[in-house]
Amino acid sequence: MNDYEYLLSNIQQIKGIGKKTSQLFKRKNINTIFDLLWHLPTSKIENSKITNSNEIQIGKIQTLKLIPIKYNFPRIRRLPNKVICENNEIKIDCIFFNSNESYIKKILPINTEVIVSGKINFYKNKYQIINPTQTKNEDSNIIKEKNKYSLTEGLSLNKYNTIINNVLNQLPNLDEWLDDDIKKKFNNVSWKDSILKIHSLETKKIIKSDYYKRLIFDELFAHFLLSSKIRVKIKKVKKKEKIFIDNKEKLLKDLNFKLTNDQDKAVKIINSDLRSKNKMFRLLQGDVGSGKTIVSMIAALNTINSGYQVCFMVPTEILAKQHFSFAKKYFEKYTKIEILTGKSKYAERKKILDNLKLGKINFLIGTHSLFQKKVEYLKLGLIIIDEQHKFGVRQRKELSEKGGDNCDVLVMSATPIPRTLMMTVYGDMDLTLIKEKPKNRKKTITYSKLEEKISDIINFVKNEISKENQIFWVCPLIEESKKIDFQSVVNKYKHLEKFFKNRVGLIHGSLDKDEKNKILTKFLNKEIDILVSTTVIEVGIDFPNANVIVIENADKYGLSQLHQLRGRVGRGIKESYCILMFKSNLSENAKKRIKILKSLNDGFDISEEDMKLRGYGDLLGFKQSGVKNFRLADPVLNEDLFLLAEKVVKKLELEGKNFDKYNKLLKLYDKASIINKNY
Ligand code: ADP
Ligand code: MG
Repeated sequence: MNDYEYLLSNIQQIKGIGKKTSQLFKRKNINTIFDLLWHLPTSKIENSKITNSNEIQIGKIQTLKLIPIKYNFPRIRRLPNKVICENNEIKIDCIFFNSNESYIKKILPINTEVIVSGKINFYKNKYQIINPTQTKNEDSNIIKEKNKYSLTEGLSLNKYNTIINNVLNQLPNLDEWLDDDIKKKFNNVSWKDSILKIHSLETKKIIKSDYYKRLIFDELFAHFLLSSKIRVKIKKVKKKEKIFIDNKEKLLKDLNFKLTNDQDKAVKIINSDLRSKNKMFRLLQGDVGSGKTIVSMIAALNTINSGYQVCFMVPTEILAKQHFSFAKKYFEKYTKIEILTGKSKYAERKKILDNLKLGKINFLIGTHSLFQKKVEYLKLGLIIIDEQHKFGVRQRKELSEKGGDNCDVLVMSATPIPRTLMMTVYGDMDLTLIKEKPKNRKKTITYSKLEEKISDIINFVKNEISKENQIFWVCPLIEESKKIDFQSVVNKYKHLEKFFKNRVGLIHGSLDKDEKNKILTKFLNKEIDILVSTTVIEVGIDFPNANVIVIENADKYGLSQLHQLRGRVGRGIKESYCILMFKSNLSENAKKRIKILKSLNDGFDISEEDMKLRGYGDLLGFKQSGVKNFRLADPVLNEDLFLLAEKVVKKLELEGKNFDKYNKLLKLYDKASIINKNY
């Protein structure tokens, strides 16, 4: 076994780890010896601040002071064990998957105040904290032992230390993969020394050390190299030459607006991609309302006029319909357009599929159904995917392969994310940003309002409706919960019905698709004035007539999410408003968020602030991105290292360097498998 094989081998290789112990590690996602190296001595949990009850945020890992009241250990397999807890302010359940009763009783003794950390969830009207771990003391300085690891249940600290010391003693000296000039930036520290040092230094010192930074760089370097490999590989795919006709001017004549500078630039670069013999794999990123659709439609028309077919995929049926009617309005004279969704009737579908195969349809718009096996194109030249953040990296790659070598791919996303995340998540694609909003757009005016003042808001809304405007009204939950004082959509709907009889609609996550579509269509057709909803309001649909969005319990949302919600309005030419509703006891953090939201309007700026406040793991859309969390790297704290790694990789790419030299690094960092399998 060579050094690399050893590091990647199962931890059972280590003396003292049998099957049972390895299972314990597995729960912490530690499978190989290499995995074990990143489980650092930590006082992280112990250090984390205790969260006040009014600062609880769903989805976040937080630390709470609680008193366990009652155990609930169901005898049915698959049901988790539960401990009902409370403190002065809230009731919360501690939920344990895969933990035995004696352990639970040990860390959560009844009627004793404990401090626990874990991910906050909300289920059946009650807060939960999932698989909490106990923290012994409020005082963050209690960790005096040299090596304190956050422990896997069932494993003693002693045993853990024996194991890790054993591994560190046998740690191999690997061939250096960093080039000299880069290594110098980290004071020439080696990989092995760095690993040894980060297990021995105190946590605070570690983070600032060259050892730690070098290891972060390794991690990022490996990740970006992989992305680059994919990108280069796709670029190498040669398209057959396309005859290229630019119909931009013709199309724009029909529109009642001019492209913004950013839109114009985007059109130009996409045109040059289409003209190029290299396959396009490009992300068009722009805030909600920045006008991505028209840019992609121009690309579609150009491709069609060059004799190819185009398919345009969107996540929902209603969005498909909206794009379809846009395309029909402007393109019908140039080309044959069809729509295909899960709803399409059999006969209709068959006809579309037949015509598609014969090349009688040039432009197909629809949902996921566009990519079923049965859908065969005669000459597919461009795939457009809208609201792309619903797809992961792998899906994205599959889609690009589906079109074959001769097909370009353009994906569009409306979730602005910070620069460091952009590199991480979309490093495999070329990137075009639209930052500028269309000129006629007015800034959405953002107010914050206390909940007691709801009658003011109702009057405001009445006035807007009298001007024939429409209103979104967003609430966080579906049913009223007595204990936790959220507003529910159902109650709000009933309440608003009193003031606006028969002019209010209600949608939430548990409605079925048909029902949802029906109500959204009613809203689009102005048969109702107010749409009460949970946060499920469809992404991407254009409701130019809606100019007010009321968001209740606004402190429960992160900045990016509030910004996304706010983006539902302000798409037309009217003055638009976002009203954030609050209870009186606002946390400092919530106050900060309102301030940021009132002062910033650009999604990218807001996402940077959001990441600073919340950490990247929680950022909207990032979790679904399919990118694993880094072991050490942090997009907020290590921005410089992200930029450095990106620069180094870009340089290698430009110089046309072969990446073979880095294969061991890639393999070790657990990413290489993706490359080998698909490219
Ligand atoms: P998104 O980027 O969120 O997909 P859309 O493409 O749906 O945004 O555009 C939002 C609205 O702005 C649409 O009604 C569209 O017709 C309009 N629009 C797009 N570009 C411009 C422009 N340059 N000037 C004025 N209005 C525009
Ligand atoms: Mg859109």
